[in-house]
Amino acid sequence: MNPVGKPGKAGSLMAVEVALARLLEMAEASTIGERERLPLAQVEGRILADDLVSTLDLPPWPNSAMDGYALRVADWTGEPLMVSQKIFAGQAPGPLKPGTCARIFTGAPVPAGADCVEMQENAEVQADERVRFIEAMAPGQNIRPQGQETTVGELVLPAGTRLGPIEQGLAASLGCAELNVVRKVRVAVLSTGDELIEPGQPLGPGQIYNSNRVLLCSWLQRLGCEVIDAGILPDDLAATRARLGELKDVDLILSTGGVSVGEADFLGIALSEEGELTLWKLAIKPGKPLTFGHFRGVPVIGLPGNPASTLVTFALLARPYLLRRQGVKEVEPLKFQVPAGFDWPKAGNRREYLRGRLENGRAIIYKNQSSGVLRSATWADGLVEVLEDRTLIEGDDVNFIPLSEVLS
Ligand code: AMP
Ligand code: MG
Repeated sequence: MNPVGKPGKAGSLMAVEVALARLLEMAEASTIGERERLPLAQVEGRILADDLVSTLDLPPWPNSAMDGYALRVADWTGEPLMVSQKIFAGQAPGPLKPGTCARIFTGAPVPAGADCVEMQENAEVQADERVRFIEAMAPGQNIRPQGQETTVGELVLPAGTRLGPIEQGLAASLGCAELNVVRKVRVAVLSTGDELIEPGQPLGPGQIYNSNRVLLCSWLQRLGCEVIDAGILPDDLAATRARLGELKDVDLILSTGGVSVGEADFLGIALSEEGELTLWKLAIKPGKPLTFGHFRGVPVIGLPGNPASTLVTFALLARPYLLRRQGVKEVEPLKFQVPAGFDWPKAGNRREYLRGRLENGRAIIYKNQSSGVLRSATWADGLVEVLEDRTLIEGDDVNFIPLSEVLS
């Protein structure tokens, strides 16, 4: 069984969009079906499980968009009108007496019989308290009609919407106190490498601190995942098998490291023994090697270990996969074209995601683009996409993906 399809031909690289399409296909075949009902205040960052259909007209009745006077246009002859009632927001007015106007405030219901609101700046209150209107008025003026935002039965938010403050506000305006959301996706994070130790411990010879673990754990939490921190895995087959075997109850095992060509790839060996394995060589830089497979039925994504490679492949491949597992439709980050603020004289055979930022409307890039340099990404505020087989001179267009698009 190899649902991912054949890996690319030996020596050829798989395009980023092909890898993404395959991952999304896999994700769709195993979307999270379980759901939970949560109070509205707790749904931030979660995925809506059912279509949200309006049970209200919004607004429920025509209301005033201004502080001013409600009247019937046809009653205006140029003569001042008597004020027959005063309507504040929150009140339920009676019908407008013909030939009069009503003092009205923003958000207050427009009384039956009135068909326009004139703002107070265009009205003069006379000594006898009648009101003279200075300009001609049009029916409907300054009235927010009933149902202007939504009407009963209308689809307001489709299932699969990521819920944030704005969606919470909209659901509240429709009177929803609770929403059905998709259960959190459970992701186990594994860092592979004999050289890794955790921050807080003294650094021995040949050792480096594990940076991918906290990077991915924090990021996954932002994405609304339940994170299982599975620690550091030594470069050892028996240990790899044993650790993978412990991670039965997760939706994804996300590992970093150990996928470089030429390295003893214990993750790969364990997957091919007890599941299936696909190794991809991607046309992406940083981050060429990527593993996708299953261990005893649990999906596994193995990202390359260099921190900038981890960042780029997580942002562009694992993140969309995880969102799609939860039923999100729009999983790809927004990108836009900006002029390059640099030359790119040597075309590469991989698509480059340079850590860059915008300065004076142009994309500039960090001086060191090594895949081991995470600092490039703290300096940056986006990924500058340079397509394969492409050279650039300053001023040519490049795609820019804001990091803010992928970090949440
Ligand atoms: P690998 O993919 O295991 O060959 O790792 C590639 C490079 O990334 C090596 O220099 C590793 O030391 C480094 N690396 C791997 N995992 C991590 C990690 N969790 N944190 C920091 N660097 C790592
Ligand atoms: Mg390694």
